Amino acid sequence: MSEIDVPESHPRYQSLLTRHRIEAGVEKGITSKQGLIAEGRGEAFDYLLGERTTPSADRAERAAAALLVLADHPVLSVNGNVAALVPGEMIELAAAVGADVEVNLFNRTEERMRAIADHLREHGAAAAGVEIKGLTADARIPGLDHERAKVDADGIGAADVVLVPLEDGDRAEALAEMGKREIVIDLNPLSRSAQAAAVPIVDNILRAVPNVTEHARELQDASDDELETIVREFDPDRALDAAEDAIRSGQLE
Ligand code: ATP
Ligand code: MG
Repeated sequence: MSEIDVPESHPRYQSLLTRHRIEAGVEKGITSKQGLIAEGRGEAFDYLLGERTTPSADRAERAAAALLVLADHPVLSVNGNVAALVPGEMIELAAAVGADVEVNLFNRTEERMRAIADHLREHGAAAAGVEIKGLTADARIPGLDHERAKVDADGIGAADVVLVPLEDGDRAEALAEMGKREIVIDLNPLSRSAQAAAVPIVDNILRAVPNVTEHARELQDASDDELETIVREFDPDRALDAAEDAIRSGQLE
């Protein structure tokens, strides 16, 4: 028996675990009620994808890892759903690629910002040497209203590569317009967030983040040329089309 009262062999184990984590996140004050709705939306897409990482998503995860390893200043953005679902996994990825983690909320309240930062610290941020940013909020993303635009000047403000999982479309577009190379994790290939990304990963964040970390560890010693080639050969439109095909046709590649 594990975190939830259901054996891992249960056919709906992953989905039940995910719901449980989101619910616990809401109870702990790190996830908003809106987060429950986002979760339900994601689950429907995951069901149609066969709840597995498609070969196309795996290629996107490898390209994302190459981008993060290449980056001078990568930042991983964390919101309430991300914090509830994969706190330790985000810290591990940040440690593997030398990234900062920045708390970034659509519905920003100081209380939730602090609760998420604390939650990430409980999941080993300090021991892994990972800095948690987002509380200073001394820079703005142009083109967004005041609260939604807030970022740290030395965090997302200064980043060259950002990972923004489960992000709102407006913010994803505004970050891309700032010239950031953007990696989005989103189960909906039609979402504006996925469409704004240099590297859209259409996969469940529970599977995606550990897999990006694994690829990053493999690519750690690759040359910049090799890494740039992996990024260049990745085609975002093809990845989005492959995901949409899998969802619409039910043909699981
Ligand atoms: P649009 O991008 O079309 O403007 P939206 O971003 O406003 O829509 P939300 O429901 O706020 O819509 O976005 C949440 C997104 O996160 C959805 O696209 C959903 O598929 C995705 N999502 C939810 N849970 C997960 C998960 N566990 N892994 C990956 N993606 C997820
Ligand atoms: Mg979206």
